[in-house]
Amino acid sequence: MNDLLKIKTNLIGLIGHPIKQTYSPFIHNLALKLKNLDYYYLPFDIDSVNLKRAVKGMISLNFIGFNVTIPYKTKIIPLLNHLSDESAIIGSVNTVINNEGNLSGYNTDINGILETLLPYKDDLAEKDFTIFGAGGSSRAVIYTLIKYFNPRKIFLVNRTEDRALIVKDAFLEKMRFNCIEILNYDPPDLIDVVQNSKLVINTTPLGMEPEVDDAVVNSHKFFNNNQIVFDLIYNPQITKFLQLAAMSNAHIINGLDMLIHQAAKSFELWTLEKFPAEDVKNSLINLLEGKNS
Ligand code: NAP
Repeated sequence: MNDLLKIKTNLIGLIGHPIKQTYSPFIHNLALKLKNLDYYYLPFDIDSVNLKRAVKGMISLNFIGFNVTIPYKTKIIPLLNHLSDESAIIGSVNTVINNEGNLSGYNTDINGILETLLPYKDDLAEKDFTIFGAGGSSRAVIYTLIKYFNPRKIFLVNRTEDRALIVKDAFLEKMRFNCIEILNYDPPDLIDVVQNSKLVINTTPLGMEPEVDDAVVNSHKFFNNNQIVFDLIYNPQITKFLQLAAMSNAHIINGLDMLIHQAAKSFELWTLEKFPAEDVKNSLINLLEGKNS
């Protein structure tokens, strides 16, 4: 990115509501600058009644593409001309390419999850996993685990049982995976289920800034030193959930690599250029640490 916007500067958007917590403009504009590409990434806080008009507006203004975030990752789908196979299965799109008004939707969260967990692939094969939360990112996690990590069983723990049931049915129908078991937060054996899971993932927003004392579990007794524990949250970098897991010497992973690698895939779809992942990650860590000090 050059500091000066020009008539020919390629524009990339972000639409969501609210979007004040997003780090995507920082991430993408830094990457574009590091690669000296004449693009600019602009965030737009869009009210839901204006979603269709906003998308038409971006087409009219020749945006080359855009990111989609909460709450439009599913609502955007009827406005698109083409969906990648993965986003069709998950029912969620976070990246759109605009080819002269022809819109194609992708889900790059999958790439973020895959890149984060790939180093542990051999350890994870044919093991039981527990996932907290059954929203959009949980669906991306479940898709990635089924497609690449050969799970024996997935325990899905969610506050709203009906929502978890819809997720379970969707993966049975679309991926023929019949080993999802739904739990709520109450059963006394939840601690045993989590203890016996090789991989434990939080996909809920519990523990995110500023509610940093929240967590989906309340004791380190849920964890052991043979587990991999992944929290999709990246701010704070070590959530209460990860602190409890670390107390039991589990291997902990936060959402930073997922954030960087989902951005990398989106960037590559728009620009066909390689994303400078290490440099952007280091700058983001500096930004997060500066903000939270
Ligand atoms: P979502 O679609 O709104 O789903 C949120 C899930 O969390 C739902 O299952 C919801 O349960 C559950 N939940 C919310 N508040 C809860 C509470 N107080 N107690 C218990 N459960 C609660 O959101 P999402 O898109 O999946 O995003 C979830 C988190 O992932 C966010 O923190 C987001 O920042 C993070 N994320 C990170 C990355 C990354 O790159 N690192 C990417 C995407 C998302 P109900 O079904 O009962 O409502």
